[in-house]
Amino acid sequence: MLELVDVHRTYLIGESTVNALRGVSLTIEQGEFVAIMGASGSGKSSLLNILGLLDNPDKGEYRIFGNNVNTMTEDEQAGVRNNVAGFVFQQFHLLKRMSIVENVRLPHIYSGVKGDFHQQAVERLRQVGLAERIDHTPNQLSGGEQQRVAIARALVRDPLIIFADEPTGNLDTKNSIEIMKIFTALHAEGKTIIMVTHEPDISAYADRIITMRDGVIISDERKPGFETTVVAKEENGFDIHGSGKASLWQNGRFIGFIAQAFQAILANKMRSFLSVLGILVGVASVIAMIALGEGAKTAMQEQMKSMGSNLLSIRGGSAKIRGAAQGAGAVARFTFIDVDEIAALHTLVKSAAGVVTGSGRIVYGNKNWSSSLNGVGYDYGTMRASIPTVGRWFTREEIQTREKVAIIGVTVVKELFGSTNPVGKTIKINRINFTVIGIAPAKGFSGPQDDDDVLIIPVNTAMYRVLGKDYLSGIFVEVSSSTLIEQAKSKISALIIKRHRLKEGDDSFNIRDMTEIQKMLSSTTQTMSLLLGSIAAISLVVGGIGIMNIMLVSVTERTREIGLRKAIGARKNDIMLQFLVESVGLTISGGFIGVLAGIGISLVLSYFAGWAVKTSLISVVLATVFSALIGIFFGLWPARKAAELKPLEALRYE
Ligand code: ADP
Ligand code: MG
Repeated sequence: MLELVDVHRTYLIGESTVNALRGVSLTIEQGEFVAIMGASGSGKSSLLNILGLLDNPDKGEYRIFGNNVNTMTEDEQAGVRNNVAGFVFQQFHLLKRMSIVENVRLPHIYSGVKGDFHQQAVERLRQVGLAERIDHTPNQLSGGEQQRVAIARALVRDPLIIFADEPTGNLDTKNSIEIMKIFTALHAEGKTIIMVTHEPDISAYADRIITMRDGVIISDERKPGFETTVVAKEENGFDIHGSGKASLWQNGRFIGFIAQAFQAILANKMRSFLSVLGILVGVASVIAMIALGEGAKTAMQEQMKSMGSNLLSIRGGSAKIRGAAQGAGAVARFTFIDVDEIAALHTLVKSAAGVVTGSGRIVYGNKNWSSSLNGVGYDYGTMRASIPTVGRWFTREEIQTREKVAIIGVTVVKELFGSTNPVGKTIKINRINFTVIGIAPAKGFSGPQDDDDVLIIPVNTAMYRVLGKDYLSGIFVEVSSSTLIEQAKSKISALIIKRHRLKEGDDSFNIRDMTEIQKMLSSTTQTMSLLLGSIAAISLVVGGIGIMNIMLVSVTERTREIGLRKAIGARKNDIMLQFLVESVGLTISGGFIGVLAGIGISLVLSYFAGWAVKTSLISVVLATVFSALIGIFFGLWPARKAAELKPLEALRYE
């Protein structure tokens, strides 16, 4: 069954070499109970580790069920350990964070077999007399009890062979006898037992005693009357090359990894919290930043809406110096005929309204106030969202007949009327009596300019009665749809050039659309977001390095645990996944707290500072995905480091 031919094993310690095994040849058959005896340092453990596939020979051949070990991959060997071997160590190697029943069922996680393994684990614990203690942790058990748990664990996969290295080395006589009774019973059931010991009382339980000295076998004695039964490989019911594979979803393996990851995270709460602080701060600032940006954008859009949508503003003069002609350039003087012709561009233009601007000195009672005066056409009201909510808009007749009616902005109301209702009152504008018919809707500030410090009167009244102008200052045009803005601009431009007999490219007038202003504003906010975004990115990277650091610590701390897991059959990917799940668990938890903190910060900012904020779902989802990616990216190296550990070296790590 197990066959060693001239096996050598040499350890390198710095410059010197230790020849632990120097040509061992040995055959062990199914059903044997073998004790390997010898003085300390004679190579017993080295031999057992090679037999148990925890280590491989440097020279010589080892065949297990006829398969040459040298041709097996690490994962295949892990599969064989899981399927046919059970290990019992002098130091027990139980995982302290888990209950004993979880410890016992552990090899099943890596088995790729389906079934109710909790029940089997309980059954095995009953077999070693610990059925009542299943919920206890290893620390609550005595040494003898711990070793019995380890034996139950070795049995849970129903292995053909049990490898035991000084199983009673840490136990008193009474407990040693208990353990040996269990071994004897297992042997009677037909299990092959290979046990290292240096105590003759213990080796007396075996029926074959191999004695070693200085890396070679010096005697090999069988008790008389023993017969071996040869079991062919096929009858063992396992496939060495297939045993390297197992689905991630079987046996609740993935769920198991998640549970273990959170156990590990919670076992070091403070440390975990500190290590995710970078991620937390990064995510919180991203969330708060995006919420602020979105809030500002919404506020801006609201303001844009109050200016009117799809709006073009046509003014005389160069675009560079607003309203003033440059050098010899003339200023186009618009008339109502221009307005009518533009309004007649039906498919492109929804409506057009002439405006004339100036300033008005308003007197009411003993108070007076100056504000900007807009003489406007009928369509201006809807176009620029200026229809009063208190009072009413002008009628077409009032505009035609130069009626002395006025609509005033809320700042004007506040300055002149305080809290009394101005509608129906008479005011003087540049010494002419006007009746107030409405209050313009509040618009707030655009830049330093108070858009509510306005006075709106009919355009004809403004031109001929108040300002004494016979031309318009500009024309507002509402384009039928936002997709037609460019087209409308060129059409209107051509029309004006033709009507006023201007040269092509003349700068005596300019057409601006609100999207330009919008673009300008959003480019400022974009710069801001970029800046804040890079700060957030830096803190996330720093946070990621923090995670990598803590994961490296975690791998080092748990080297022996990794060794144990590998010994009972964990493959590289299993170990890698376990640590990746842990680092992703860390970063996602950090990200989650960060999201909450970010939302909290935005709420505080909006509540106390009055800033507009709007937390977007996208930013929350993105932050979570991003923190998971950081976990994968920065967890990969520590996880690989863990996965690459050799089982034996990891088990021996101090
Ligand atoms: P035993 O179990 O009989 O006490 P071992 O097989 O553990 O002996 O060790 C045999 C020799 O190999 C000893 O000299 C020991 O120091 C050495 N040795 C064992 N394992 C290692 C190792 N991993 N690295 C270096 N030397 C080792
Ligand atoms: Mg030893």
